[in-house]
Amino acid sequence: MSLDSLPRPRHGLLLGLALVLLLIGAAHLAVEVFLDHERRQAEDAGFDDAGRTAEAARLTLLRTLDVVQVLSRMSQERATLAAEGNAAAVAAMEALARQVARRRAFGILQVALVGPEGRVAWSSEERWQTPVDLSDRAHFRAHLPGPDGIPPDRLYISEPLVGRVTKLPTIQASRVVLDEVGRFAGVAVISLDPFDLSRLLRELLPDEAGVISVIREDGIVLARSQGAAATGGDRLEPDSPAMALLRSGREGNFHAIGSPGGRTTYSAIRRVPDSPVYVAAGIAVAQAAAVANRLRTMLRAGEVALALLAFGTLGLFHQRRQRHANQAALATAKTLQRQLARVLEGLPGSAYRAELDAAGQLRFLYGSSSITGLTGLSLAEARDLPAWLARIEAAEPPDALQGLHRRAAREGRQMVDVLFRRPDGTRCWLRITVQPVRRHPDGRVELVGYVADVTEQREAFSAVVNSAKLATLGEMATGLAHELNQPVAIMALAAENTIRALRRRGPEAIPDALRRMERIGALAQRAKAIIDHLRAFGRTDPGPLDAVSVAEAARGAAMLVGAALREAAVTLVLDLPPDLPRVRGRQLLLEQVLINLLLNARDALLEGPSAVRRITLAARPAETPAAGAAVVLTVADTGPGIPAAALPRLFDPFFTTKPTGQGTGLGLTLCHGIMRSLGGEIGAANRPAGGAEFRLLLQAAGAAAAEPAAPAAPAAAVP
Ligand code: ADP
Repeated sequence: MSLDSLPRPRHGLLLGLALVLLLIGAAHLAVEVFLDHERRQAEDAGFDDAGRTAEAARLTLLRTLDVVQVLSRMSQERATLAAEGNAAAVAAMEALARQVARRRAFGILQVALVGPEGRVAWSSEERWQTPVDLSDRAHFRAHLPGPDGIPPDRLYISEPLVGRVTKLPTIQASRVVLDEVGRFAGVAVISLDPFDLSRLLRELLPDEAGVISVIREDGIVLARSQGAAATGGDRLEPDSPAMALLRSGREGNFHAIGSPGGRTTYSAIRRVPDSPVYVAAGIAVAQAAAVANRLRTMLRAGEVALALLAFGTLGLFHQRRQRHANQAALATAKTLQRQLARVLEGLPGSAYRAELDAAGQLRFLYGSSSITGLTGLSLAEARDLPAWLARIEAAEPPDALQGLHRRAAREGRQMVDVLFRRPDGTRCWLRITVQPVRRHPDGRVELVGYVADVTEQREAFSAVVNSAKLATLGEMATGLAHELNQPVAIMALAAENTIRALRRRGPEAIPDALRRMERIGALAQRAKAIIDHLRAFGRTDPGPLDAVSVAEAARGAAMLVGAALREAAVTLVLDLPPDLPRVRGRQLLLEQVLINLLLNARDALLEGPSAVRRITLAARPAETPAAGAAVVLTVADTGPGIPAAALPRLFDPFFTTKPTGQGTGLGLTLCHGIMRSLGGEIGAANRPAGGAEFRLLLQAAGAAAAEPAAPAAPAAAVP
């Protein structure tokens, strides 16, 4: 053996070994990078899915809590009004609460008021009679004054328990009730059905692919979409990542690889604003992420064995796994897409996803087909923005529809109610809620929108409004009795005189009798007109949208309140030019608005020391940039004006400055609602010369419907 020949094979071996190691290292690195990429993609998709599901759950819960907040605020108002002895308003509110509870709307079982000593003072529950003591319950004690009492504007949410009034499993949402000087006066309790909540969650995520939970900030589960404890009541593990997030008060994502089958769960936790509640969505993804993890384990365990493999097998190995991982990634993408679709289809309303680019262009990315059930439009039709907008007859607030998505992208959650005309001609009120969910560095903003049918909810409100209308009728009754009395008394007198004359003077008295009979006929006509108007005013169905004569509506209203104004020594001046265009509306509704405004003005005049008690009802043609031809009606008085502090709250339900037992605070709310329903507007201001002025804007019905010239003088004073 030559000494020279020795190093060659050793060098070759070393070189070969180094090459093998290098290649193994490179292959390992390539596989690692690939798997890491796959894992990250699957993880992003998993978190995206969980995040969107949690977002949908948050929107659902927000809707319920919105209703709870309104009802609890109403309980506060109810207590204030009851203390003032305003029975009409209290009754209207109680009726509304009963209606909501009876319909189980939004899963609400009961609305109750608990007195300061802990006993139930009122409940919407019909079976409730005897006083029920709740002084030991957490949802009462949480609001007791003291350092531990929760702030007055915050809701307390109880753990699931059996209600003492309803005798049903409930979650109690409660809020403090204060008296007029801000002292503790009791607690408003809204009882929610935990089964209903679980059902809502299950609709969002109907199968075993994951679970949605509603969790109180201390970790108690209130409701769950799946599992034995669907109505909650159990507690999160103290050392769970979810609990760690709750303790820090933050929203976030986390994932866990669980058994069986190494399913990875991607979870997202979101806080429900203005409440002590979080929602958590956990989506199990068994595909790509789990496959990637298995591959990684195999790779690591097999690293030594791998070193023994030849270059060729290594290449083959790599290729096979790459194919496998690719297929898995594809399957994941498909599953996630299906899951997202299911999440969105399952919502009680209909959801969509859209993207607003940096230039402000809106692009719809996804819409759930449940939009068809709501609107009667196919998905493709619903995406056609101009066609969709053409079906919207009114929006509340009116200008909120304009730039809705841009505003949501800029300022956060936005909401608008729209009156929507379906292709079959039926109408419904849709509430559109839009919320930004993700902002991209390049300025794009992803938005989630949610469309729900709120027609029923609004009907419940109109029930209150109708009771306010009855209150107005009651208020007018005295004046009207007078109004009717006068013609009836004159008719009776004229008839008696006629009879007497005929008896005394025989046929000779006939011409005289005929004149008297004519007068009786005219008076009867007047009485009939008043009664017809009254009957129409009491009707709940106001009839179809029509081309209305503003002057006729103004005269109709003036006739109904004429007596009440005369009694208060108020002069009503009608300033109605003869050439006004007709407006889009319903005469009765317009009269109703004017009657409310006239009676409010009378009240203001009676209240102040005004030297002149005058109300001027004037109409003028106008042009608006948005709606074109219009008519502006103003009701101005010479009263003390509207207090500055009252101006921003004027149209709020139950807002009144009138003394106990006089105001319901619903009159202007009613006017506001009516004007919106007619596509018009209402505003209020104080006049520089003193007194209040209410301004109504009504859209003209169209050039063809111009009003025939009225014989009345431009300014006619009604005595
Ligand atoms: P209510 O008449 O039952 O109080 P409304 O909603 O009709 O309820 O009115 C709300 C409040 O608006 C009134 O209590 C009053 O303070 C104020 N207001 C309405 N009209 C006038 C007016 N013409 N002048 C001054 N204040 C007014």
